[in-house]
Amino acid sequence: MRDPSMNKMAEEIGDEHFSETLYTPLRKDAFILDDKTKIEEIEKLFERIMYTLGLDLSDDSLRGTPHRVAKMYVKEIFSGLNPENKPQARSFSNKYEYKGIVLEKDIDVTSTCEHHFVPIIGKAHIAYIPNGKVVGLSKLNRIVDYYARRPQVQERMNKQILNELKDVLGTDDVAVIIDAKHFCVHTRGIKDTGSSTITAEYSGSFINAEKKAELMNLLNGRLL
Ligand SMILES: [Zn+2]
Repeated sequence: MRDPSMNKMAEEIGDEHFSETLYTPLRKDAFILDDKTKIEEIEKLFERIMYTLGLDLSDDSLRGTPHRVAKMYVKEIFSGLNPENKPQARSFSNKYEYKGIVLEKDIDVTSTCEHHFVPIIGKAHIAYIPNGKVVGLSKLNRIVDYYARRPQVQERMNKQILNELKDVLGTDDVAVIIDAKHFCVHTRGIKDTGSSTITAEYSGSFINAEKKAELMNLLNGRLL
């Protein structure tokens, strides 16, 4: 049996929502099972959860739920765990020699809190200064979506997106800001529906106060 003090610790960590590491904690054997087998396994386990809660699985409305949840986990909301689903990073040369800030605002973030398995929903704002390479704007959305589609902690997701962008764009001049609502804060615990959490990671020239101020002005819709 699990040591009760471990449960206590898990509860405390769960509400802290803090993680310092960049990598999602995956086991080495994470992809030994193929998607089809994972769906079959999760379906059985989720059925067990519903049964344990006392639900009648012969009911028409509930019968298909274990399969739907299993398929949703593997193919949709946690599909970003699998590196095979990582968006292809095609960049092209910055032929206009544009040296200003490129900002893509209000990118949808739909993720899942890894401490409570409920949604994290919000917006990401991505800025970079091209250094010879640019990417199609929709690529930024795809990178956000890939890292969002896994059990997450907002701080880690922010770091993972920043790191990937630095790599794809071949520059350190990248900033990622995420503003998100955590359903574990809305629907349980403190039950605060009004709050949102903002995280921001700056690197390269965005660490510089002047560049940061320029970015903030653009984000707020004011031009310098
Ligand atoms: Zn949570």
